[in-house]
Amino acid sequence: MDGKILIVGFGPGSYEHITVRAREAIQESQVIIGYNTYVDLIRDLLTNQDIVRTGMTEEVSRAQKAVVLATEGKVVAVISSGDAGVYGMAGLVYEVLIERGWRDGDNPLVEVIPGISAIHSCAALLGAPIMHDACTISLSDHLTPWAVIEKRIEAAASADFVIALYNPKSGRRTRQIAETQRILLQYRDPKTPVGLVKSAYRDRQHVVRTTLDDMLNHDIGMLTTVVIGNSSTFYYDELMITPRGYQRKYTLDTIEQRLRPGERLKPENEPWSLNAATGECWTPTNPQSSSVQSGMTSPTGPTIRDVATSDISPREWASAALNCLNRAEKTSHVSAALSTRMPSPRPSIFEIAVSPGVANKKFNSVQLVLLANLAGDEGEIEYTTAHQLILRTVTEDPEHIVKCLRDGGMTVLPVGDVIKVKACDFCDGEKHEGIPFAEEISRRLAGIPVEKELRIGFNGCAMSCYGAVNEDIGLVFRKGKFDLFLGGKTTGRNATPGQRVAEGIPAEAMPDLLERIVTHYRENAFPDERFHKFFARVGQIEGFNHRDRPQTVTADAVCGS
Ligand code: SF4
Repeated sequence: MDGKILIVGFGPGSYEHITVRAREAIQESQVIIGYNTYVDLIRDLLTNQDIVRTGMTEEVSRAQKAVVLATEGKVVAVISSGDAGVYGMAGLVYEVLIERGWRDGDNPLVEVIPGISAIHSCAALLGAPIMHDACTISLSDHLTPWAVIEKRIEAAASADFVIALYNPKSGRRTRQIAETQRILLQYRDPKTPVGLVKSAYRDRQHVVRTTLDDMLNHDIGMLTTVVIGNSSTFYYDELMITPRGYQRKYTLDTIEQRLRPGERLKPENEPWSLNAATGECWTPTNPQSSSVQSGMTSPTGPTIRDVATSDISPREWASAALNCLNRAEKTSHVSAALSTRMPSPRPSIFEIAVSPGVANKKFNSVQLVLLANLAGDEGEIEYTTAHQLILRTVTEDPEHIVKCLRDGGMTVLPVGDVIKVKACDFCDGEKHEGIPFAEEISRRLAGIPVEKELRIGFNGCAMSCYGAVNEDIGLVFRKGKFDLFLGGKTTGRNATPGQRVAEGIPAEAMPDLLERIVTHYRENAFPDERFHKFFARVGQIEGFNHRDRPQTVTADAVCGS
């Protein structure tokens, strides 16, 4: 029996917006594979299917599981919200199949079932904002470098696309949406309509209509889609509307139209579509055609005013309209931006992590004043749980900022998915034996880019009062030697400390050992894979074996019994 993979987009999340084919596909499947939240959203459609549910960043393992089960002959539904082919699971499943040498038509068969993507569901709630050319851009730079995303935003902004921004912001990605606004404001009016739609067609749906300059004053999160209007988009009452362009072709307030349907899009009636490619405007050539011909003294051709009372042909009407549009567009905000082509130099938001040192936790007043001056009126300083401050400031010269901070005696590190070394304060320096090792480890590893933020915790004694054992990698310095903990799950409902994989590692050997562990992770981790998941998947790192954690017992006891 051939197996089958049904890649199902189930739309925004409400049952009435799931297509008939998507429902059928879920019904005919033997196994449902999906992200926990997605499985919960379609719970009422499930009957007796086996369920494979995983966490948010485990798309690759979901795709692999689907391929394995379907190859064994099972009918497997891989579910995505929205459309499975728009930032969904369809491409990933095909990639996993291709890795295995699969060809279209081989076992397993594959069917992609479309759903309503966020750009469409959110647009429907806002009014009709994507009535003209539109695009989607995801602001998540987990899998796409920010420099590439930035170029796409700039291109879409300059070309006057309506833009739907997916994944605009998360707990750790806060800068991207602000950068996006800055780019857009170079090309669009600050009062451009912007719609913010959170959880479209779900229980906590929330719709905000705002403007480009005001959008950051509203709540934007992981579940928000941001719809940016183009230069024609307007608000009418509570509706965000982008004109389709009919007003150029039709008189909207009369029933009688100048052209019948069969006459439209003919070059003699509507020459703009043909001439648009060359940029040339049609010029009347028949001297008998109308009185306008003799009045064409303007080098730019006839105008509406010139021809309004004349007995002219439809073609001349079209030419006059086109000339009007061309002249109008030359003075428009968009055309002005387009005509420059080369964007002006743009200061960007620069962010950097700052600390007094890996063991030192005390900023002095001079350093604080320096930080405040570098932040300026537009910048900000955020304190974090990683024993660092994040400085965000608008600058065209990031290197100058870095130099000032270093000259001020501070340690500076990049922000994002990098290695972070977090140490205790060694009892204010009194238990100082471990400090040189913490500093060496920090110097060698801190700031190195990794698939997913990796925290190394360092405690200066067995008291472990700074909780190093809860980090991805934990080190406890004890009588000149180290205890090593691997695979702590630092956050979430099921957070757990790392496994103590070794005791008594000679202190001098620790930096090299750590470097090898980190290199193994960097070279072999899947995209977005956290260290604890990586350790569980590979089973062994540098000779240290992963041990499965005990299963959680679900207690159903009445409180106090
Ligand atoms: S872990 Fe030990 S050395 Fe570090 S601050 Fe706590 S008690 Fe002091």
